[in-house]
Amino acid sequence: MYRIRFHGRGGQGMKTASRILGTAFFLAGFEVQDAPRYGAERRGAPIFAYVRADRRPINERGVIRRPDLVIAADETLVLIPAAEVLAGITEHTVLLLNSMKTAEVWQERLNFPGLVLAWPLAAGLEDPHQLRFIGAVGAGAAARLVGVIPRDVLARAIREELAHLGEAVVARNQEVALGAFDLLAEHAGRVGEAPEAPADAYEKPHWIDLSFDDAGLSAPDIFTPATSEKVPTGLWRTVRPVIDYSHCHRCAWICSTLCPDSTISVTAEGFPQIDYEHCKGCLICMTSCPSHAIRALPEEEEAGKISGGGG
Ligand code: SF4
Ligand code: SF4
Repeated sequence: MYRIRFHGRGGQGMKTASRILGTAFFLAGFEVQDAPRYGAERRGAPIFAYVRADRRPINERGVIRRPDLVIAADETLVLIPAAEVLAGITEHTVLLLNSMKTAEVWQERLNFPGLVLAWPLAAGLEDPHQLRFIGAVGAGAAARLVGVIPRDVLARAIREELAHLGEAVVARNQEVALGAFDLLAEHAGRVGEAPEAPADAYEKPHWIDLSFDDAGLSAPDIFTPATSEKVPTGLWRTVRPVIDYSHCHRCAWICSTLCPDSTISVTAEGFPQIDYEHCKGCLICMTSCPSHAIRALPEEEEAGKISGGGG
């Protein structure tokens, strides 16, 4: 059985990736499960989706604990334990990271015994708005790595999954997914099927036994207000909103009010100012700015400029 997990952030198309890959497996003659799992349901929050595929009926259920392939569309998730990108990986697992850093850097950093492939999934996408195609890129990469899905079957799966979005969307997703499929030709078939785990080899679930109390006791009380500022949600960002002050008309009641995280303050001169520690990159400010004074730029490059790194 193949067990594959896609990790990303809400909005990066990981659910779409699992659906495309699941349909491709099915069209190639496999029994399939594919399902997403969300945490906090908002753009930028860590999510994952998974696919099981086997030539025999699949009796295994629930989240994949021992993956054969893990694809992470956002390398920052690897550093967040709650995202569980590395959960259950073994020397048998292949890890494909969307990263500008090399596989060797990751191999050393993670002390990971299996195969690591580091690849800028977005490299072929012309601008940050195209990041929504990362899901299709991931599905194309996974199809190639398992090596049992023909190219034309992948293209057909994309059409089946995305036909309702129109021909242009289908064509663009096919283009990027098949591009990824072709680029990974040298790694075709590197992901193998892990044997079935014997029933007594399963780990005990991480149950927490809670006693029953009445609601007055068991409901959480938050005694300290205004703690959200202690959580640096800026880490979630894949693209950064950057204000071009030469086009800004100081109508900051628009962008500062519409920012769902109240991360835009207003200076004494009336200009908006973004708190990048807490801006999660939802880009609501950009889409609502009437002067088009906010642009979305790739986070990796902008962070490099600020830290003085990035060459
Ligand atoms: S909405 Fe746009 S133009 Fe208005 S203050 Fe904000 S960034 Fe400037
Ligand atoms: S500043 Fe813009 S991108 Fe950042 S959280 Fe607020 S609305 Fe979203």
